[in-house]
Parts: sequence; C-alpha cells; structure tokens
Amino acid sequence: MQTYKIAVLPGDGIGPEVTKEAVKVLKAIEESDESISFDIKTFHWNSEYYLEHGKMMPDDGLDQLKTFDSILFGAIGDSRVPDPVTVWELIMPIRKNFQQFVNFRPIKLLKGLQSPLNNSHPIDFVILRENGEGEYSNMGGTMFPGEQREMAVQNTVMTRQGITQIAEFAYQYAREHGKTKVTSATKSNAIIHAMTFWDKVVEEVAEQNADVEYEKYYIDALAAYFVQRPEDFQVVLASNLFGDILSDLGSAIVGGLGLAPSGNINPTREFPSMFEAVHGSAPDIAGKGIANPIAQIWSAALMLEHLGRRDLHDKILSAIEEILEEKNVLTPDIGGTATTELVGDAIAGKLLTKVRG
Ligand code: NAD
Ligand code: MN
Repeated sequence: MQTYKIAVLPGDGIGPEVTKEAVKVLKAIEESDESISFDIKTFHWNSEYYLEHGKMMPDDGLDQLKTFDSILFGAIGDSRVPDPVTVWELIMPIRKNFQQFVNFRPIKLLKGLQSPLNNSHPIDFVILRENGEGEYSNMGGTMFPGEQREMAVQNTVMTRQGITQIAEFAYQYAREHGKTKVTSATKSNAIIHAMTFWDKVVEEVAEQNADVEYEKYYIDALAAYFVQRPEDFQVVLASNLFGDILSDLGSAIVGGLGLAPSGNINPTREFPSMFEAVHGSAPDIAGKGIANPIAQIWSAALMLEHLGRRDLHDKILSAIEEILEEKNVLTPDIGGTATTELVGDAIAGKLLTKVRG
C-alpha cells in the first residue's frame, strides 16, 4: 500500500467548507481502494491566524510543507486583511518557492451540465498557464507622482527556462493524454520583444515534438474562438496574464466557478505541487453551507492524477458526473437546493458503492 502525505490548508470563507468535502472524498477513496492511504495534516494558516500572529504562516511554514507529497489548498481572503497580504504572504511564497511553474486548468463540460453557449459539441481542453514569471512581475516603478508627466512602467519577464518548461509540459501532457494539438496564445504582433521571444522558444519545443500539431493565435482572436468554436481546442499554452484571463473565460463556458479546478504544478517533482479550486473565499455565501464543493473535489482528483493515480481521478470525475446527471443533489449555483455537505456525501457515497457493488 502506498501512503501519501497530504498537507491541507483550508483557508478562509468557503475554503474550509469545500475542503471538508474534498477530504471526505479522499477518505472514501482510501476506504474503497486498498492500494492507497492518506496521511493528512491540516494547517490553519489563514486570515484568523494573521490577525493573531501578524503573519500568514509561521517562519518555518515552507519547511514544514516541503516534507509533504502534495498540498490541498482551500481559498484565502477576508475583509479584515488586505487581499495583497493574503495573496503575497501565503499563496505566492508557496507557488514561487516550490517552483510550481505550471498552472493547470481543465476546461471540460461535464456530463449533465449545459454550456451557456448552447453548443452541441463537447468542450474538453486544458489551459496550461505559465505560473512563475511573464507579465506578473514586480519589476518596474512609478515616477513624478502628481505631475503632468506622471508615469508607471511595468516590465514583463520571459526567460528561456520558464518558457521551455511550460511548453515541454504541454507536449508531455498532450502525449500522455492522447491529445493531437497544442495551441499557443501570443501577441507578438504588438508586444514585440517579450511575445516574439515566447513564440521563438515555444516553436523550438514544438519542433522537437513534431508528432503533435502546433498552432498559434493572437490572444484577442483566441478569446473569440473560445466562444465560437471551443470544441477545436485540446491543449492551450499561455503566458501568465493571458492564461489567467483565458481560464476565467474558459470556466464561464462550462458552468462557472463552482466547477473550476486547478493545479499549481512543480514539473520536476522536486517540491510538492498544490491543488485548489479556481474560486476565492466567496464571502457573500460563506457560512451558509451552499457553496458548490465540486471544484475542490475535482482539484483533489487532479492531485491524485499528479501522484500517479489517473485511475482514481477518473473514478472521482465519473462520480461527479453521475450526480450532475441525476440532478437530485445540486447546489444553488447550478440550479439546485442542496447543501455543500449533501453534495460531498453524494459523491463520496458513489465511490463507496462502486467498490462494494
Ligand atoms: P470568489 O471566487 O470568491 O467569488 C466570486 C463569485 O462566485 C461570488 O459570487 C461567489 O459566491 C461565487 N462562487 C465562488 N465559488 C463558488 C462556489 N464554490 N460555489 C458557489 N458559488 C461560488 O471571488 P471574489 O469575490 O472576487 O473574491 C473573494 C475573496 O477571495 C477575495 O478576498 C479574493 O482576494 C479571494 N480570492 C482568493 C483566491 C485564492 O485563494 N486562490 C482566488 C480568487 C479570489
Ligand atoms: Mn485569475
């Protein structure tokens, strides 16, 4: 039996509510499959912790997390703490120190759901977003405050290593999942230094992987194609900013934030990767017990796939699709009246009966 050490950071708002259900599903997996078990440790490093200690995590927080096989993260954000504090003192240090260069976001219309596009074709692709550099840099500055000539400069940082890593990951993912095409999002017609370099390095990797088709589109046109013909995409490769925007657009065409999972992946596996729903702490519905836990349960499934158990990922996804098709136990965001807990119970229940027959 293989035991995986999982660090769980439930976070704020609906984070703990949906994470509880994801852990319930992991326990159901453990109970139904003798080949796997989880050694779960929960860390309450959230806004409450910040208000008490003046920091988001202890000084040796990263050292503590480093010893785990993987991290399951809820969501963070609380009106009593500025958002840049929760983001830059907890999420960013984990992503950057653990070299989680790949932000992995599946865009898949699950069985039982209707796309707002009224599209009759299946939608099933992934966005692989560069997660460590690009447009989201802190290089630059401001000058001449308050004067007529006041200005701000923000630099984009593209490195050969950063681009190569995400592009190679995209081709490896395509090959492992039977995908035949990689689509790169660019804007090299206007952002002539950074995006031309992006194209050059991506195309070098594409040439070494000529068995998989390569295409590129300007980001503005690609955004329109996501709406007009989403069925044409398989693996979309994008820089940090472009991938961020495209993935919110992507989640909107397949049912919304309650259904959007993600993984922050360290491709070298030198450090733990971190899995989290795309959504935030949703203060408007926190405490009401009505958050949709599917995004977080699916994120836990992606974690199992990353740990080498794609079979278990597929099992969880089928259980999710079954409850979506039955339509008896759905949260309000997708037209039902069920609680977060009932949805978690239903998915865990499917996994248990599957095995016991
Ligand atoms: P949000 O994702 O929390 O909420 C946006 C809207 O979607 C809200 O109406 C919310 O009720 C709804 N929603 C989100 N998840 C849902 C779910 N599982 N089920 C049903 N409805 C759901 O985004 P926001 O309102 O912009 O941000 C709220 C807080 O979350 C802020 O403090 C922000 O900084 C933080 N945030 C954190 C993360 C993260 O932890 N990675 C990501 C995004 C936002
Ligand atoms: Mn975003």
